[in-house]
Amino acid sequence: MIDTHCHLYAEQFEKDIHQVLDRAAKAGVSHIFMPAINYDSLPKMDRLSHPDIELHKLAGIHPTDINEGTTTTEEELLDYCQQDDIVGVGETGLDYYWSDDYKSEQQKSLRLHCRVAKQVQKPVILHNRESTEDLLQIIKEEQNGSLKGIWHCFNGSVEEGKRAIDLGLELGIGGVMTFKNADVDDSVAQLPIDNMMLETDAPYLAPEPKRGKRNEPSFVKHVAQRLADVQELDLDEIIATTDKNALELFGVTSS
Ligand SMILES: [Zn+2]
Repeated sequence: MIDTHCHLYAEQFEKDIHQVLDRAAKAGVSHIFMPAINYDSLPKMDRLSHPDIELHKLAGIHPTDINEGTTTTEEELLDYCQQDDIVGVGETGLDYYWSDDYKSEQQKSLRLHCRVAKQVQKPVILHNRESTEDLLQIIKEEQNGSLKGIWHCFNGSVEEGKRAIDLGLELGIGGVMTFKNADVDDSVAQLPIDNMMLETDAPYLAPEPKRGKRNEPSFVKHVAQRLADVQELDLDEIIATTDKNALELFGVTSS
């Protein structure tokens, strides 16, 4: 099983990171992809390791960090993202939940991340909160046939999911799909498993039955089980397909 979105370097894991990773390995997690929230995330990622799990690093500036005044240049982001040990660009995206004041800065940053992703031919990781129309519009404008990426923590309708897939995006399926009143399970049931991958977004958004607790990568098994239920497929098939989708997208060979 692969957790394609986990902030493993977050301070919430500082005290028991070894146990967290041991539980993930025991649950069958073989790879964890770690999106950055800013460049300070990268040295923290470098301190992490586990003998049975491959940890992968991404570089980028989170939209809520843009609200806090964090900036980057295309040259600087490109410098990071063209390194061999950086497998993706992000996380970037749009977040209109907290404030409308930073829309244009966030959009500028999203476009910059897309340009770099196309140059380095690595996937861009897209955060989306109350911003679906603008997000899909920008991806449409940036898509030149070579942009690939994940709509992380997919929370859209069937129609929005289809539009995203048509634009060349994959859907990151996480804890929100397991929430009873979120309706995301209804759309996920009607969208193709061939465009999906599993994620936790740990330490945030723990899936049922762990909702409200600190999330961790071992909980990705609850997301996998719920996805198997709504798609009416065997758990083994869900895991095999989402693993394959993730490894292909990131260009990582399984070991
Ligand atoms: Zn995230």
